[in-house]
Amino acid sequence: MEDGFRHRGQRKRLITGLRAAGEFDDRVLDVMANIPRHSFLDSSFGDWAYRDEPFPIDCEQTISQPSTVAWQTTALQLLPRQRVLEIGTGSGYQAAVLSLLGGRVFTVERHKPLFRKAKLTLKKLRLDRGIRFFLRDGNRGVPEMAPYARILVTAGATEIPQPLLDQLAVGGIMVIPVGPEEADQRLLRITKRASDSYEEEELGLCRFVPFRSGLA
Ligand code: SAH
Repeated sequence: MEDGFRHRGQRKRLITGLRAAGEFDDRVLDVMANIPRHSFLDSSFGDWAYRDEPFPIDCEQTISQPSTVAWQTTALQLLPRQRVLEIGTGSGYQAAVLSLLGGRVFTVERHKPLFRKAKLTLKKLRLDRGIRFFLRDGNRGVPEMAPYARILVTAGATEIPQPLLDQLAVGGIMVIPVGPEEADQRLLRITKRASDSYEEEELGLCRFVPFRSGLA
């Protein structure tokens, strides 16, 4: 989909609004200013793409709200060239953010239609550089590419999967929403201090679609 004058203007206003909140890393917002979010949504959503709202994508999933993407990505503190595992590819928007920040991105999705579409969308936008896509159950992570300096989970988990903790590098950071199903989750930032020692910070409440088990 074309990135026209109107969409660019709406995007600029969205990012200006997020910047004014003063809570998000400028580098993250600079990257988001360059990603055409409307291209990740069904064209019928058209002008709504630049509201600070989540939207439905295929398979009854959602693309996260822009302020949530900014919040999670700021919390992740991703540095250029770091390996980052994302669980929940969804539309592919968040993967594009991580890649434009310079990350080496490994992204996992359990729904085949989303896996395919996200790949295609990012390819068309020429934003797929440095991203590897996996159709898998994210509960197991991607052990053959571990360890990861960063892990970002974009679905609400009832508990932290042990394989993800195992695949996090020492010194690494994982950002994950954790909570009971059908309720708000606590956004956690886990820092791995040693092979079996973790520090946990609670960043606030959030609401993500559920982190499921197995392939869809
Ligand atoms: N990051 C996405 C939004 C993700 S919505 C974006 O930028 O658009 C959460 C996604 O997590 C959904 O697509 C859902 O299918 C996926 N998901 C849920 N449980 C999963 C699991 N166990 N493994 C892989 N993906 C999972």
